[in-house]
Amino acid sequence: MKQMNNTCVEVLPALLARTKTKTIRKAWYEENDLIKYCPACYEDSEKIRLANDEGIPIKNDEIPFKRHKHDKPPKYQVGDIVEMVWDSDSDCEDFCNLCGSEIVSGHYLPYVCKNDNCEDTQGSFNLNKIAFNKNLGKVRITEVFEVKFMKVAYQHPWGKFEWDTTWTKSRDNENIESLAKQNGFKSAEDMFAYFDENYDLSTPKKFHVYRWGWLKLHA
Ligand SMILES: [Zn+2]
Ligand SMILES: [Zn+2]
Repeated sequence: MKQMNNTCVEVLPALLARTKTKTIRKAWYEENDLIKYCPACYEDSEKIRLANDEGIPIKNDEIPFKRHKHDKPPKYQVGDIVEMVWDSDSDCEDFCNLCGSEIVSGHYLPYVCKNDNCEDTQGSFNLNKIAFNKNLGKVRITEVFEVKFMKVAYQHPWGKFEWDTTWTKSRDNENIESLAKQNGFKSAEDMFAYFDENYDLSTPKKFHVYRWGWLKLHA
């Protein structure tokens, strides 16, 4: 069964409440992924990196392959049953309700959150009180579509210069505020701030939106 990994603490409350019914995932390959998906471009980027490290400028005609866009196809299709998991890289089974960090347990000691900055400093002998299991349940994918997010600069008539975020959608009647809320964010503003910080929206970026319905627990 396909898995969907989750690590974004901002949307953890909605994930635990099972009110999160959408996610937005990047629709491109990172440079590190290229070794697998586009070896030619990976070699090019390595050449450029090595030349830069040595301080040697690389000429355009020394790049044998044309750089192209590395669009990533959607990972999930409509109808897929997907297991939602928290932090699949971690071997830990239980995570803090408040911050999503690993819970450490010691014999005869309370279970406690590993994150020193977490509000939960006391821990508890009752694991279920402070933690959730990494297996969050199963969902059925009901819709897949694309969006594009970008940050645009605009100037007020009185000269003040500001950044704002904008988006294009490949689906009618999709509203950015409801998309943000179904994704588990408090507002579109919060969501754009998160995406800008993690994906740099100063150039337009394409994402896949997946929508789902939660299956009954233990289904
Ligand atoms: Zn390529
Ligand atoms: Zn915590």
